[in-house]
Amino acid sequence: TPSLHWFRDDLRLADNPGLAAAAANGPTLCLYIFDDSPERRQLGGAARWWLSRSLQALAAAIKAKGGELVIISGDPADILPEIVAAAGIALVTWNRRYDGAAIRLDSGLKETLTAAGVTVRSFNSHLLNEPWQVATKTGDPMKVFTPYWRAARAKGEPAAPMPAPERIVSHPLSAGVGALTVVDLGLEPSKPDWASGMRAEWTPGEDGAAARLSDFLSDQLSGYGEGRNRPDFLSTSRLSPHLRFGEIGPRQIWYAAQSALHSGEAAGTASDAEKFLSELGWREFSYHLLFYNPDLATKNYNSRFDSLPWDTDERALKRWQRGLTGYPIVDAGMRELWSTGWMHNRVRMIVASFLIKHLLLDWRAGESWFWDTLVDADPANNPASWQWVAGSGADAAPYYRIFNPVTQGEKFDSRGGYVRRWVPELAGLDDKLIHRPWTASPEELQSAGIKLGETYPRPIIDLAFGRQRALDALATIRGD
Ligand code: FAD
Repeated sequence: TPSLHWFRDDLRLADNPGLAAAAANGPTLCLYIFDDSPERRQLGGAARWWLSRSLQALAAAIKAKGGELVIISGDPADILPEIVAAAGIALVTWNRRYDGAAIRLDSGLKETLTAAGVTVRSFNSHLLNEPWQVATKTGDPMKVFTPYWRAARAKGEPAAPMPAPERIVSHPLSAGVGALTVVDLGLEPSKPDWASGMRAEWTPGEDGAAARLSDFLSDQLSGYGEGRNRPDFLSTSRLSPHLRFGEIGPRQIWYAAQSALHSGEAAGTASDAEKFLSELGWREFSYHLLFYNPDLATKNYNSRFDSLPWDTDERALKRWQRGLTGYPIVDAGMRELWSTGWMHNRVRMIVASFLIKHLLLDWRAGESWFWDTLVDADPANNPASWQWVAGSGADAAPYYRIFNPVTQGEKFDSRGGYVRRWVPELAGLDDKLIHRPWTASPEELQSAGIKLGETYPRPIIDLAFGRQRALDALATIRGD
């Protein structure tokens, strides 16, 4: 019988249970709807670039299996029932999503289609455990990571990933309904073309994801436990945008890591692998939080933060966004983000803490900027991580933890390689000064070719002042 698989955040053929069910059922219409409804959060610029490339890769992969990817733009609430009726589809499949607006859309569609006599089947492709599968002993949502992950691990191994369908028989109407090509969606920038750094860095799509994973397992897993904090060399997997768009799933990563470890292929120790899997655990925990707190991107998880007296200095926000704060590790991170669409996790924590604590700007301003500029901008990980740094989130960093960007830089980029790469105007400073250029003598600045306040900004704020102001503001909402 004719079936339809609706692709969303699952842009892959392997370990895609929804697609497998549709393809096994008969001729399949493979559909992607670019959702432009204001009821759902629109993708940011960097994620749109990624999506464009990822859809091109998916279309080619589907074609190689005999099928065709149909791309349409609009509101799925209208489009999906129309196509299903026009094409005489008997089975619709999709893989589940977990943010409030998507759940509302999907449940509404399930009702409409079922009422019209169509079978709808939904699956899990995105997580090791779906949010409701991990709970406290009394059945409540979890609020702390360590017991969450312990409970998740106690569930045993995840289901083994399934192979890609051998063949996808194209539904005869595929050619007729497909109004658009990926290029028609116009998701990539032209003038100005800000995506060159991204093109150089990334290969979106299922093959690019698989290549990243195998490189990581053979070259970087060993020493990951320590190395993951160092932004100055490639030490993490960089799988985050691939996971975000479902070009690879966590079950595939899990099994590949285990099998590489056991076969001795991976140059990593068991504790490195365990640490790596626990980072996937943080991703799962974020989805758990999002599911039970659908307003995670806009509302403080801890409502005490509702009365925090945030500053509203637009100029400071702009300087942070552009990487012109005068603190080298912060500026390096913000420029890496702008250029490549990605930033190292340690540096994400440093720049977020600087924005929220030293500049006392609302975490939502930072979350929005990351949403627009990250290729891995994720509906769960982004708000959960911002709230974690702010102290307003679940199992959050304690309110008095205020990262000092100088000592953080000296600890995690001790040779200054990361700063030299992204803030080249400071490259001439020696290792002792690179994270604190304002302490250099006039001769040292001159010999490095730096004019503070001209070629590189003076610090936007005094660290001691900013720290005290944040502690004072936080004291007003502590209530203990
Ligand atoms: P690896 O270290 O190789 O980890 C493997 C995978 O585990 C990652 O791809 C990611 O899916 C997951 N992971 C790793 N660290 C975390 C973490 N701390 N929290 C949740 N999941 C994690 N991650 C996103 O995917 N999207 C976001 O929008 C996002 N926004 C963030 C905002 C802030 C302020 C902070 C502090 C962190 C944010 N993170 C986000 C989490 C983390 O920084 C990235 O997942 C990580 O840097 C991706 O690099 P990687 O793939 O090399 O990670």
